[in-house]
Amino acid sequence: MSAIRPYDAKEITRFVDSVIRPAAVLCDEEGLMPPETIASLASNGYLSATFPRQYGGLEWDALEYGMLTEQIGKACSSARTLLTIQTSLVGESLLRFGSSQQKEQWLPAIAKGKSLGAFALSEPGAGTNPQELTTTYRLNQDSYILTGVKKWISFGDIADFFIVIAKDANGKMSAFIVERGRKGLSTCPIGNMIGARGTHIAEVRLEDVVVPKENLLAKEGAGFSYVVNTALDHGRYSVAWSALAIAQEALDVMSAYAKERKQLGGELGQTPSVKAIIGDTVTQVHAARALCLRAGQLRQARDEQALIETAIAKYFASKTAVQAALDAIQVLGANGCRSGSTAERLLREAKILEIIEGTSQVQQQLIGDFGLNTYGLESQQISQYC
Ligand SMILES: Cc1cc2nc3c(=O)[nH]c(=O)nc-3n(C[C@H](O)[C@H](O)[C@H](O)COP(=O)(O)OP(=O)(O)OC[C@H]3O[C@@H](n4cnc5c(N)ncnc54)[C@H](O)[C@@H]3O)c2cc1C
Repeated sequence: MSAIRPYDAKEITRFVDSVIRPAAVLCDEEGLMPPETIASLASNGYLSATFPRQYGGLEWDALEYGMLTEQIGKACSSARTLLTIQTSLVGESLLRFGSSQQKEQWLPAIAKGKSLGAFALSEPGAGTNPQELTTTYRLNQDSYILTGVKKWISFGDIADFFIVIAKDANGKMSAFIVERGRKGLSTCPIGNMIGARGTHIAEVRLEDVVVPKENLLAKEGAGFSYVVNTALDHGRYSVAWSALAIAQEALDVMSAYAKERKQLGGELGQTPSVKAIIGDTVTQVHAARALCLRAGQLRQARDEQALIETAIAKYFASKTAVQAALDAIQVLGANGCRSGSTAERLLREAKILEIIEGTSQVQQQLIGDFGLNTYGLESQQISQYC
């Protein structure tokens, strides 16, 4: 059992500056995650930051995990994705629904960086609406047999095991742990993504893959309402902080540039229109941070509002990230338009966050429903407002 270490922002900053930031361009340009980056994240305990100590975790709380996500995400979105997938989607699913044997087998392995997991929900024909998925399972004596195709699976090309969501003939959705190496399982990398290029995204094919009954995660039929919903809620929380990270980095980039760049004998930042852009970005970033902190506090308090506040934080922060990255390009002018500039990379990474863990449109619907069910409930006559 490893020793737990308290959250230390300065220690993480040193780690990010020496290990993560130098690898960020490589992740983006070469389309891979260096094994030594994975090993360093693991050996510092960051892949298992929220896990209990018995599984090699640091036992950090939701806010500490959020701040860690921000620090890593400021430097490299691909490395941050590794954290989101291992800790939030795969790790939390195992912690919450895994049998003791499943937890013992996989959580310490993730913590040590010896095994990576992937969360395989999306399919070529099923993204926003997982109910449309067509990957099937059937029980055959003591085994389940899985068949189907999963698409856009982060770290799918290098994962050692997959949490696969599938349906039976009656539409019952269940989750299974499928180890790489099982006969009939193959992965194929998907290239040319605009962002998340170091995350080994892959298509995962399952052709009559046989797994023992013990590989069922949670009960049969609990695949969507429990496993998927829990995983996506945790993933959304991590993505909210990741979006804040990008927005903050964009703000840092545009502010530094505006102070250094000289125009008409003065600082670019003193130009009223540039100062206005920076002022707007500061306001948006502070608002996004407040939403992320609120979501974290509610999660720690196990408040039932945490779910909707997490969705609000993710929706707002990802929108803020896209706008902040666009504004950073605006402030940098032609220097921001160069492929490979930090601002350009931030924009590509920010856009991804409006798609994953529930698109912005899905969050809008969810938040809109919450609004209609929460506000304006007094039985006032419409005529009062007219
Ligand atoms: C970089 C990256 C990493 C990913 N990693 C994973 C992973 O690890 N595991 C995994 O399972 N999946 C992963 N995905 C897939 C991701 O979850 C899906 O892309 C996402 O759910 C959206 O599905 P879709 O792309 O099929 O879009 P669609 O569902 O086809 O939606 C297209 C557009 O229509 C809108 N739309 C669709 N339906 C509705 C609706 N009912 N109401 C309002 N608007 C709607 C959407 O908002 C979107 O703008 C990843 C995707 C990306 C880009």
